[in-house]
Amino acid sequence: MASRSTQGASTLHPRCYDAALCSELDRKYICPVCLSALHEPMQTSCGHRFCRSCILGVINGRPHAKCPVDNVVFKCSTELFEDKAFQREVLSQTVKCGNQNEGCTWAGELRSYEEHESQCLYISVPCDNGCGVSLPRHALTEHEETCERRHVNCQHCNLHIPFTDLTKHQVLACQNLPVQCTLCGQTGICRKDISAHIDITIGDCPLIVVPCQYASFGCQFQDKRRDMIDHYREAANHHILLLVRNVSDQEQRISALERQLEQIHLEQEVQKQRINAVSE
Ligand SMILES: [Zn+2]
Ligand SMILES: [Zn+2]
Ligand SMILES: [Zn+2]
Ligand SMILES: [Zn+2]
Ligand SMILES: [Zn+2]
Ligand SMILES: [Zn+2]
Ligand SMILES: [Zn+2]
Repeated sequence: MASRSTQGASTLHPRCYDAALCSELDRKYICPVCLSALHEPMQTSCGHRFCRSCILGVINGRPHAKCPVDNVVFKCSTELFEDKAFQREVLSQTVKCGNQNEGCTWAGELRSYEEHESQCLYISVPCDNGCGVSLPRHALTEHEETCERRHVNCQHCNLHIPFTDLTKHQVLACQNLPVQCTLCGQTGICRKDISAHIDITIGDCPLIVVPCQYASFGCQFQDKRRDMIDHYREAANHHILLLVRNVSDQEQRISALERQLEQIHLEQEVQKQRINAVSE
């Protein structure tokens, strides 16, 4: 028989057959409740048949229920039977695919329908990308090539993202996107390398303003990196003077420190002799 599950949770609510599938079936094979082919048929004591899930839905846990066809009351525990023979008969009926209006020409026993349904090119299936579009299976491959939620690789950083997010990613986030330096106009610098490019110490942007290398010796000059070479040439003497002044400042500081040190030694020596004199 068809692989509709008779086990587990799906036993309570198995899916009924597609009504369009059964449009040409004899009335006796049709469930009066769901109007499609009887699925796991059960017979009441008044002789009417329903899908298992349809009649269980009508009974809804009550001990007695009314037949939906003729309102005859029956006792659910003893007057409702599985009808296996009839089930075999229903499954042997020839049906046409429920998608014949869409172009499917399949016809076969009802028991083979489920297998066909899993392959039918005309059945409507949702796009795997979650774009919300459902299309006949035969049109899906073509759709997936242009689907706005298809996944693509960012050509700069290889991130795998939905096509609709690509522009936003590149404009706002992609660290490998080649950008232009707003100062010097150089193009093709990865966004993540821009801060290094304009760094005043390690950068190579010719237009970033950098301080003179002799700033710590007192030169206050700063200019675009490109133009600093002129300053070093023009201010060479000034820089030498700064260095000389710095060296002589250092020498004075060292002499002062040496004097302090000598003083400390002297005081320590006096202290020592005093201690010796007391202990002798
Ligand atoms: Zn039914
Ligand atoms: Zn009845
Ligand atoms: Zn089909
Ligand atoms: Zn799609
Ligand atoms: Zn990227
Ligand atoms: Zn630059
Ligand atoms: Zn300078």
